[in-house]
Amino acid sequence: MKHRLFNTLSVLSSVLFVATAILWVRSYWQSDFIQVLTAPTCFIFGTIRGEVGVAVALHEPVDKVSSPKFLWETGRPYSLRELADEMTVTQAGGFAILHQPLLLTSLWGIALPCWFVMGITALPAISLVCKRSRNAFRKRRNICLKCGYDLRATPNRCPECGAIPTGSKVTT
Ligand SMILES: [Zn+2]
Repeated sequence: MKHRLFNTLSVLSSVLFVATAILWVRSYWQSDFIQVLTAPTCFIFGTIRGEVGVAVALHEPVDKVSSPKFLWETGRPYSLRELADEMTVTQAGGFAILHQPLLLTSLWGIALPCWFVMGITALPAISLVCKRSRNAFRKRRNICLKCGYDLRATPNRCPECGAIPTGSKVTT
């Protein structure tokens, strides 16, 4: 169960890794903004030049939205500096906190560099590859996959942790 969950997580994060790579390249000639409008909250996902951002905008309950609406807008690429003309941008090294206090809407968001998101989303897949290659190495050397104990003298059961190697003749 845990193993399957981790595999699913690795696949999902790999998909996010590829999607971020595509958005990163695209963000230099086209900004994308996806808005999910609900009342009174609006969730925004967008790309700024080399960055991805998520934001939440809280509206006054004047604009009623009966069912969630999705809006996808594209436009020329924005940079963080340009956004700073429209809202308060606190940034350091490509990481930014966005805030836009308006009369009817208050927006809070964060922007993260694409390289950072790609680094985070690559971790589960890298960990999976490391684990698989470690297991393959241990299997070749007759070492317990679970604890690393030398199983040459006791190939059917690990005397250290009790693990039974796959392909062993002993069954429980
Ligand atoms: Zn063991």
